[in-house]
Amino acid sequence: MALRAPEGTRDLLPDEQRFWTHFKQTAADIFGRYGYQPIETPLFEQTDLFVRGIGEATDVVSKEMFSAISGENLKRLLAGESIKAKSRLSLRPEGTAGVVRAVVQNDLVPQGAAPAKLMYAGPMFRAERPQKGRQRQFNQVGIECLGADEPTVDAEGIIMLMRFYEAIGIPVDRTRLLVNSMGCEKCRPAYRDAVKAYMDEHADELCEDCLRRSEINPLRAFDCKKEGCAAVMEGAPKISDYLCDDCRAHYDAVKRLLDLAGISYIEDSRLVRGLDYYTRTVFEVQVVEGMGSQNAIGGGGRYDKLTEEVGGRPTPGFGFALGYERCLLALQAAGMELPGRPPCDIFVASVDDSVREVSFRIVQAARDVGLTAELDHQHRSLKSQFKLADKLNAVLVMVLGPDELASGVVKVRNMQTHHERTVELKALRSLMERFLGARCDAAATGQLFDQK
Ligand SMILES: [Zn+2]
Ligand SMILES: [Zn+2]
Repeated sequence: MALRAPEGTRDLLPDEQRFWTHFKQTAADIFGRYGYQPIETPLFEQTDLFVRGIGEATDVVSKEMFSAISGENLKRLLAGESIKAKSRLSLRPEGTAGVVRAVVQNDLVPQGAAPAKLMYAGPMFRAERPQKGRQRQFNQVGIECLGADEPTVDAEGIIMLMRFYEAIGIPVDRTRLLVNSMGCEKCRPAYRDAVKAYMDEHADELCEDCLRRSEINPLRAFDCKKEGCAAVMEGAPKISDYLCDDCRAHYDAVKRLLDLAGISYIEDSRLVRGLDYYTRTVFEVQVVEGMGSQNAIGGGGRYDKLTEEVGGRPTPGFGFALGYERCLLALQAAGMELPGRPPCDIFVASVDDSVREVSFRIVQAARDVGLTAELDHQHRSLKSQFKLADKLNAVLVMVLGPDELASGVVKVRNMQTHHERTVELKALRSLMERFLGARCDAAATGQLFDQK
């Protein structure tokens, strides 16, 4: 039986791969305007990084991580031996922990330095039950800003994310931006206690996971996907009633900056991330319709305590991640089609085998000039070669036969206008160079070749 890709993974075939590249490039262009620089961290890290950076009690760490292990260490484990802590590795379930680890390890934010503004794009891994919009290997683009706690960082981050959605083609009126403040280490404990007391009152309506959460970190119950729990947590105390003066001022400043930028948002006091490291600003972007429960296309917030968790000096942080697959679903729901293959500039058709070597050299010359060029590799008939040229969406087809070769010329056909002319072989190179110069304008390209 033919082998298939593992469950929860998929191939990005050329049309989609091209779009993914465009997606990343658009993000890099827009985030770059805000000073974000690219970084790439390993696809696997020490498991301990995720345990400390995400939290042992989270579903992500307790249920959904893929372990990565060498064959040798697997044998040791199976034989009942133990392996070193640094050999316990996991595929990254998200991007933040690795970036923060890299910032600490490479000292990218020395004391008193400007913040490190970093962006990443690539695959993440979670051992979830695969479903639409949820893959075991999925792609995320994200940013992290480490070293500044000012509300301007939060606001510009949210603004550039909304600008990105617009640039990639997700209409603003199809999205909904939810914002909230999670408070800080000063004001959150009182809030946490209030939520715990509330959950204790409703213990008989909550699932086992939430009861366990109420002991470790009651705020994680806000993440529970069970309907009963969601209904109970709807009535839980609101963080907005517990914010300290500093957190209140920070939150107000973020909202004011969003207002000034013309970004509309909804304040949602139930938007409370269960992850320990979140402080103050938290936000999520959803698609308004057509995506069901998988409607979140991005989100993030401030995490002023995370760097210490992974062993760095106290460094405030802000970041977000957006899911590529979810964005693609949103775009397709809005009617977007994946871009097709770009046209082939030149196709060289050979009348018979005697000229194939010269055809090969012409194609090679075109590629060396910088054009895309192709020829038949299967000894097809001239008619089939034209069909192939059509399929490749060729702009020009050059036809070379023994008669043309004997006269030192080649026939050049403009596939749009069907205009044909004869060009001397020795003039081909300068023609190709002119074509390259005019290529950005398809109409001009056509005219160039129709000229006598
Ligand atoms: Zn506070
Ligand atoms: Zn629950």
